[in-house]
Amino acid sequence: MDRMNGKTALVTGSSRGIGRATAVKLANEGVLVAVHYAESRDAAEETVTLIEKNGGRAFAVQARLGTPGDVGELFLGVERGLRDRTGSPTLDILVNNAAEVAPRGIAPEDVTPEQFDRSFAVNAKAPFFLVQRALPLLPEGGRIVNISSGMTRLAVPRQMLYAMTKGALEQLTLHFARHLAPRGITVNTVAPGNTDNGNPVFRIPEVAEQLAQMSAFKRVAKTEDVANVVAFLASDEAAWITGAYIDATGGTLLG
Ligand code: NAP
Repeated sequence: MDRMNGKTALVTGSSRGIGRATAVKLANEGVLVAVHYAESRDAAEETVTLIEKNGGRAFAVQARLGTPGDVGELFLGVERGLRDRTGSPTLDILVNNAAEVAPRGIAPEDVTPEQFDRSFAVNAKAPFFLVQRALPLLPEGGRIVNISSGMTRLAVPRQMLYAMTKGALEQLTLHFARHLAPRGITVNTVAPGNTDNGNPVFRIPEVAEQLAQMSAFKRVAKTEDVANVVAFLASDEAAWITGAYIDATGGTLLG
């Protein structure tokens, strides 16, 4: 399928997990993808290779988010990569996917000010400034998708810090959706539930079973389950959806 032929995208944190599946899916639909990573250069190159094997186009860009100069550094690589391949820095799709996650969480009593600042810097501050930096590059019909979590709709004290950062990210969706509507740019949130990103916790049978039981479908999501939703929101067919919170938890929030 080439429904997004000629488009360009930046998917943050696409060296692995949901970001990788999203990069692969978008590229399969004809998008030229900037595959962003922090440390996992080999994994990012593997994403690029996977895409190229399918006949798609991609390039890797490095930047550790949450550090001074992060956004500028990332966009230096993105703009250079886009110009080299298309002659223009136009960016049609921005997927804010990279995040710091503590799979087992932290008890509220144990959260330090440093951890608090770091989580917000990566999960909320960086996406804000990535959107701000992308604004001049986004054309009419541009797409921004922010990856939050079903955790913002559940009370899980050990995940309080993480959920707070994702709550802030959802505000980014709401207000930028209004701000960018006059330019025909949509901004939406996708909220995954438990998704097998290759983390070893998903290989521990008791844990995997417990996580699976949380979904109405009694299984953990594959990264592709979430990537398919992101790709739809990035497509022209989703032009009438903006400011939305799309529950991609496999019915985890149904209770
Ligand atoms: P993951 O497999 O842990 O991968 C994280 C990605 O983000 C990697 O590409 C990593 O790059 C990058 N990253 C992490 N910290 C970074 C930083 N400081 N600067 C730049 N890049 C950084 O992630 P995932 O589980 O697929 O999660 C993707 C998104 O879905 C996240 O926003 C997460 O909150 C959300 N989510 C996931 C689940 C789940 O069950 N998996 C559930 C709900 C929501 P390197 O490889 O270079 O480190």
